[in-house]
Order: sequence, then C-alpha cells, then structure tokens
Amino acid sequence: MAVIVDLGIRGKVALVAAASQGLGRATAMAFAREGCKVAICARNAGPLNAAANAIRTETNAEVVAVPADVMRTDGVTSFVDGAIRAFGGIDILVPNAGGPPAGSFETLTDEQWAKGWELTFLSTVRLVRSSLPSMRQRHGGAVVAILSMSVRQPIDNLVLSNALRLGIVGALKSLAREVAKDRIRVNGVAPGWIATDRTVELQRIRAERESRRPEDVQAALLQEIPLGRMGKAEEVADLIAFLASDRAAYITGVIAQIDGGLYRGIF
Ligand code: NAD
Repeated sequence: MAVIVDLGIRGKVALVAAASQGLGRATAMAFAREGCKVAICARNAGPLNAAANAIRTETNAEVVAVPADVMRTDGVTSFVDGAIRAFGGIDILVPNAGGPPAGSFETLTDEQWAKGWELTFLSTVRLVRSSLPSMRQRHGGAVVAILSMSVRQPIDNLVLSNALRLGIVGALKSLAREVAKDRIRVNGVAPGWIATDRTVELQRIRAERESRRPEDVQAALLQEIPLGRMGKAEEVADLIAFLASDRAAYITGVIAQIDGGLYRGIF
C-alpha cells in the first residue's frame, strides 16, 4: 500500500517560475500533487501551456500559465499579478530561471555579466519583492529558491553561476531575518548534477571545449558522485515541496544541498 505523506499544503497557492521543463516543471508537478493551486511561467507560450496541461491531466490541480520573461521587470509583474488575479494571493514562491551561459572569467564580456545579473540575480529579487505583500496579507508564506551546488563549490567554466548565486544567498539570508516576524520562511536548494536539458547542454559544451566525447564527460562526472548517478528533477522537487510545507515550519535561512554526495566540504 502506498504511504501518502501529507505535507499540509493542500489548497495553498504556489508560484513556480521558469517551469515549462526541467526543475521548475517537476516542482510545479510536485505542488500540484500535494493539492496546491499552481501558477507557472516561461517565455514561450507553446511549451508552457503543454506543461500546464500535463500537470492538470495528471493531478486535476488548478494550473495557471502566464507567458513571461523573468529577466524583465514587466515579465515578473505580469506573472505575479496574473497568479494573484487567478487565485487571490500567494503562499509559496519558487524563484527560478534558465541557467546563465557557460564561460570562464576572462572570456565573459560586460554585456554577458549584465545579462547574467538580470537573469540570475535580479529575477530572484524581483520575484520575491513582488510576492511578499501578498504573503504578508495572508499572514505567512514560504520562498524556496532554486540555486546550485556552485554556492558551495565553484563549477569550472560557469563563472556567472559561481559568482551571482552567492550574491543571492547573501540576499536570501538577509531576507530570512527580515521577514521571519511576518511568518515568511526563506530557504534555497543547491542541486548538483540533475538530469535535465540544461545538464545535457553543459556536458556538450564541456566535451567540445575539452575535445572529448559527451559520453566520456558524463562518465567522468558520474565517477565523482558517490551515489553514482545524476539526480532526478522529481527528487529536487520533493525537497522544495518539503521546505515550502508546514513540515518545515521551523526551517528558515537554510540552503539545502541535493547532489548525491558530490560536495566534499564539511559545511
Ligand atoms: P532547463 O533548461 O531544463 O529549464 C529551464 C526553464 O527555464 C525552462 O522552462 C525555460 O523555458 C525557462 N526559462 C529560461 N529562461 C527564462 C526566462 N528568462 N524567463 C522565464 N523562463 C525562463 O534548466 P533546469 O535544469 O531546470 O535548471 C533550472 C535552474 O536550476 C537553472 O538556473 C539552472 O542553472 C539551475 N540548476 C540546474 C541544475 C541541474 O543539474 N539541472 C543544477 C544546479 C542548478
């Protein structure tokens, strides 16, 4: 008999940004399975609506899909306002965006740094800032940001992620202290290698850069992971759903790793 773990978030409104595929989509599906009303966004309406339909079909949940670019202020506003119009407020927010482009310190241009800042850092700030008033009105809420293992251990040739995500951690740690009095909790997850299109692309780039075959790059990566495999998007989604739920009511200001044991540091 299946054991159902009720996370206590049935009926809550969960916003998941950048959710037409990958970690965002799996997270939206996890909230829908828990009985949440779910709002998702991505830039392209086609894949976004396909994701929304798949989530509705599988879970019967209410799902609102808002085409929006989280790199832009008006994109964030239309996503958050659209969700509030549809569901009356926000209880849970998962800031997320596509990963910043690969590149090493000396090859990245000012323009790439500026775009990375908008995509990775400012999108998080804007999504959270726009959602907090509604969470306050509802006397509480939870933010769980999708970050990366790069906040603990830099990943080669991903300097934008290594640098900008650390800034987000600083901002979220400050925020967790500022909004705790409003019963809003702020946490993040730091995934290692999770099987999504993003990792396939990063391995292709690494293979090209090092003149190796993508399958050899992947085999070498797997050897470094004590659990011997890439993670599944659903496994990251389960952690996010837990951190957003009442089961994690005393957890705030934490960045939780999920990497199959890859990170070797003590803390
Ligand atoms: P993905 O490429 O599979 O999916 C990215 C999603 O973001 C897509 O739905 C895409 O349409 C959407 N998106 C991209 N840019 C957007 C924008 N400007 N506005 C709105 N939507 C946008 O990637 P993923 O693997 O799901 O990764 C999600 C995030 O997690 C990325 O920031 C990535 O760097 C980070 N991350 C991923 C892994 C991993 O192993 N997959 C590990 C650590 C961190």
